[in-house]
Amino acid sequence: MSGLFAITHSMVQSFERCRKQYWFGYLSGLERPEDVVSPPGLVGNGVHRALKTVCLTGDPEDGERELDAYLRMPAHECAGPGTEHYTRAMDLLRRGAEAHASIDSDDRWAELDTWVPVHSRGVTLRARIDRADRLRNGEWQVIDWKTGHDIDEVTDAQLDLGHVAVRTTFQLPSETVVSAIGWNLRSGQVRVRRLHSTDAKATVKRYIGIANRIRTTTEFAATPNRACGFCAWRPPLSWAADAPAASEWDWDDGDDETPDALPGAALA
Ligand code: SF4
Repeated sequence: MSGLFAITHSMVQSFERCRKQYWFGYLSGLERPEDVVSPPGLVGNGVHRALKTVCLTGDPEDGERELDAYLRMPAHECAGPGTEHYTRAMDLLRRGAEAHASIDSDDRWAELDTWVPVHSRGVTLRARIDRADRLRNGEWQVIDWKTGHDIDEVTDAQLDLGHVAVRTTFQLPSETVVSAIGWNLRSGQVRVRRLHSTDAKATVKRYIGIANRIRTTTEFAATPNRACGFCAWRPPLSWAADAPAASEWDWDDGDDETPDALPGAALA
């Protein structure tokens, strides 16, 4: 991948959400602060880890042990045994194990992390897929497990990259159909899109355009938004001294009515 501009779903999401966040995360060279620990985050991480184990071994009990050990960690006490979050996590895992049992595949991959280089455009598309299956009927599917209230378009965009990655990595014939599935374990919604090679070409074209836009961006304004509370860059940490000059993005005009809850990174 050397010399190629690597683009990921998370990178695009960050760029769209807040250019300042993108700058901190991908350009500043600063070490990423620890993620904010929250019960929903722990539940999501724990269930994903457990479902990876279920995919690998095929035994739901292995997944339960994995999830229990994760949530019993002292640092994860807020979602530990005896909490409503622990109960919810186990319930989500049970639904995930049922989903696993319903999939008729002859091979499967958990948390496939791969990339698709497009040398002619100087770009690499990176994709991480919760699960990929080669089905017994000859088709393939990629799955993104969801444990919260997720937005369909965001899931679709993530799965589009996964679709390209699977089609390329496994050199699928152009006529092979790949189902991209956003499987919400909380709501039970299973969102299926059946994708063809023409869809993969359209995705590559789209991401090359996005990569070119990101590469030529020179201004990184902070755009406070509803996700600021989850932004890893929000706390006023030691990196503040390395941030761009405040004049570049200081939108605080000194109005005393500015609420305290405004994002830390934007104010740093
Ligand atoms: S806290 Fe909000 S405004 Fe500040 S960098 Fe993060 S997302 Fe952007």
